[in-house]
Amino acid sequence: MTLATAAPLPAAVRHDHRRPAPAVEGVCLDVDGTLVDYASSMRAGLRALLGTDDAWADWCAVSERHYPRFTSGQIDFETMRRQRTKEFFAIRGEVLDEGEVVAREQRRMTAVQRAWQLFDDALPCLRSLRARGLALAAVTNAAGEYQRCKLRALGLDAAFDVLVISDEVGVAKPDPGIFHAACTALGVRMARAVHVGDRLDLDAEGARAAGLHGVWLDRTRCGIAGRSPGVPVISQLRELPALVSQLHGGGG
Ligand SMILES: [Mg+2]
Repeated sequence: MTLATAAPLPAAVRHDHRRPAPAVEGVCLDVDGTLVDYASSMRAGLRALLGTDDAWADWCAVSERHYPRFTSGQIDFETMRRQRTKEFFAIRGEVLDEGEVVAREQRRMTAVQRAWQLFDDALPCLRSLRARGLALAAVTNAAGEYQRCKLRALGLDAAFDVLVISDEVGVAKPDPGIFHAACTALGVRMARAVHVGDRLDLDAEGARAAGLHGVWLDRTRCGIAGRSPGVPVISQLRELPALVSQLHGGGG
């Protein structure tokens, strides 16, 4: 679904304080792989370079080495992208000079951005959470302007009360600081907040360690949930609103 077909999301519904407080008052959502079909867009980037995305697993392995160097602040986003592309091709036996690295990275990113799209269940989930009066935050490990551009392109720039981007707050998931920053900005206590994301370690377990309800979105149903007892698992975002209603608030 794209901006052109996305109906406006309703504003947050304020809680009536004459009634008992709900168990959960705020929901934080990861962006890439959770709301946005990250893998499809990145595969499109590979096809622009290679004519095929057969090397997807290799790209993921290289990304796993380079992306944390950006989120931890060791290098900036542009440097990470160049070094990642350079290593990806070096592993394939092709040594690129800097000019060729920049050219290929530009070609890849153009294809990636053209392929940005939301998962079909993203907007229905956000609307349902809004209809339940929940405050919403996006919590994402990414470069600030790049991620804001993506959310604008997909019609999500006004979908959240709060947008927390690691590059802008100086701390990345799974560090508790980024979850605390989101809850503080939402005005919601950690025990009354949920965070959902597609990474068990960075999203669900990180949020749980920070004092939120951590929910793992296992879209691929890879079934490693047993490693983390106490973390609820869903396979689609459409399951999230009902799960949020069942969670208990802690800490008063
Ligand atoms: Mg993600």
